[in-house]
Amino acid sequence: MSTPPDSARTRRIPFSFELYPPKTDAAAAALATTIDHLAAAGPDFLSVTYGANGSSRRSSLDVLSRILRTTNVEAMAHLTCVGSTHEEANRLIREFLDAGVRSFLALRGDPPAGTKEGEAFLGDFGSAAELVQLIHRVQAEKSPYRETIIPGIPAARAVKAGHEKVRIAVAAFPNGHPRSRSSAQDIDTLLAKQAAGANLGITQLFFHADHFLSFVQRAREAGVLFPILPGIMPVTSPARLRRIIELSGEQMPADLSIRLEIEPTREGQREIGIRHAVDLAAQVIAGGAPGLHLYAFNQHETVLEVLDGCGLLGATAPVRDTPAQPQAPAPTALPTIV
Ligand code: FAD
Repeated sequence: MSTPPDSARTRRIPFSFELYPPKTDAAAAALATTIDHLAAAGPDFLSVTYGANGSSRRSSLDVLSRILRTTNVEAMAHLTCVGSTHEEANRLIREFLDAGVRSFLALRGDPPAGTKEGEAFLGDFGSAAELVQLIHRVQAEKSPYRETIIPGIPAARAVKAGHEKVRIAVAAFPNGHPRSRSSAQDIDTLLAKQAAGANLGITQLFFHADHFLSFVQRAREAGVLFPILPGIMPVTSPARLRRIIELSGEQMPADLSIRLEIEPTREGQREIGIRHAVDLAAQVIAGGAPGLHLYAFNQHETVLEVLDGCGLLGATAPVRDTPAQPQAPAPTALPTIV
């Protein structure tokens, strides 16, 4: 039997990190160091969350501007639309585009506790798909033409009709969105986001590889074509696990919970959380995931240890035996948006 060539047996596994805007000056200073360390690892992008109802608009933009100013890494802005008018959302998108952001995670966002689906608080937007459409529209209006380099003629540029495309990611829920009525509805929502122009999915955190892999399989069968990145969170204490379960509405992973609860030392708990994330990441990569999106909690050490544990801090990683996500683009890197 012949051995596959090296290029077929190894591939670069892209990865990205999620950060949130800091609330104090001390946290902002620490985040600047974290950004430097994360950027040095060579992620495809750094994403920055957006506080519900625009509460972190300024601080999110500050973090994104810092990434754009001080690193070569793509800066992805999370944006939510719940409670916004079209005019407000239009202004917001324009502000982020003016700051140089060309990559977005378009979210509906959560209405305040107690609000029912369909109540007036949802504003002009019923779903994230409508925000996806609006981002494309605002970008098209802002720059209806683009310049391309003419090869061989220094400083020459050709002006072409057609705007620079932006990357627009959307949220995906392997175990269903807490408000969703059925798993079919979650896939339908993803299809609607694709039809609106989304070109990347990023999942909610999950704790078992088969939850992600079977979700991707169902999405592919339904016709979702864009890459879907698994969102992985190293959970390094029982208190943090309880908190993220409360926030995300995910089911408590009994095995991880017990192991964290019975481990007496902080260091031991941290090791358990990292080991769990490493195993999960390795399993989804082996199952064909096109990359990893790591929730960094504004700290670099833990997520870099996870990548190191998976052997991903170098240029390439061993290729899995199973095929990549069906119909997804070749996973040498996330697709470049041109
Ligand atoms: P949608 O996908 O539009 O809808 C969520 C679900 O509601 C759907 O899956 C579907 O089941 C159901 N649904 C959609 N439309 C309808 C309809 N018309 N009728 C009935 N049901 C419908 N929140 C923040 O505030 N800031 C952040 O920075 C942030 N970052 C996130 C990053 C990731 C990777 C993820 C997964 C989530 C993030 N969230 C964030 C949370 C997100 O705002 C919530 O999940 C929110 O409840 C829904 O937003 P969405 O974009 O998923 O909405």
